[in-house]
Amino acid sequence: MADEAKTPPKLEVKKMTVLEQLKKLDEQRTKLIEDAKAAAMKKVQEGIDDLTAIGFLCKLVEIKDEEPSARKRGAREGAGQVDPNKPCSVCNFLTSPNHDARKHRAQGDNKKPFTAKDLEQFGLKKV
Ligand SMILES: [Zn+2]
Repeated sequence: MADEAKTPPKLEVKKMTVLEQLKKLDEQRTKLIEDAKAAAMKKVQEGIDDLTAIGFLCKLVEIKDEEPSARKRGAREGAGQVDPNKPCSVCNFLTSPNHDARKHRAQGDNKKPFTAKDLEQFGLKKV
């Protein structure tokens, strides 16, 4: 009977403890971040109060990852990707990294193929 009491649930208990510890650590982490944020926010708020006191109306705004403007910016960059296998319609040659006619916008109405010097300036190489 004494043997029986010694053997069984130990492993399971240990497993639970690890999971519980991780959960606890997660909670601690969240709490630490919240505390640090609160402390920083307090400092900023004090600064804002000072600014308000001398006549500057300011507001603290937290920017979240899912902010639509941030996402839009990323999408626009993606849409502007240059096809690496399509020669520029102005130069009619490929460069590495490749470019397209948009790169010639600065040339105004008289768009002409880039010279070796231009390419060097843009960090492009003719391929
Ligand atoms: Zn070009």
